[in-house]
Amino acid sequence: MYCTQCGKETRDLDRFCGQCGAATGVAGPTYNAPPPGPPKKLMLSRADRKVGGVCAGFADYLGWDVTIVRLLFLCGVVYSVGLALVAYLIAWIVIPVPPLTYAPQAVSGVPAARPA
Ligand SMILES: [Zn+2]
Repeated sequence: MYCTQCGKETRDLDRFCGQCGAATGVAGPTYNAPPPGPPKKLMLSRADRKVGGVCAGFADYLGWDVTIVRLLFLCGVVYSVGLALVAYLIAWIVIPVPPLTYAPQAVSGVPAARPA
């Protein structure tokens, strides 16, 4: 291959020209690439909700423990003198509810039985 900028020969796997630094158009390994499949969407949680599923939805989205999200939210309520509650209500309204197939274990509305 030859650089389209300066004409210098580049190796087949070079992503940039060694002479002028121009991109060669070779797709190298992409780091921090999102996992394959549809992009993750922020949605309310059906399976792990306490009130509206907002905290659990954020926990799902961020990959955090839902308990951490709830504790942060409660701290936010205290420090914001309740403004976080308003934000919660807005998030509850704005964030979409997942389709029923999203969390099949919660479709019936009965939590799965846990072994004693
Ligand atoms: Zn070049």
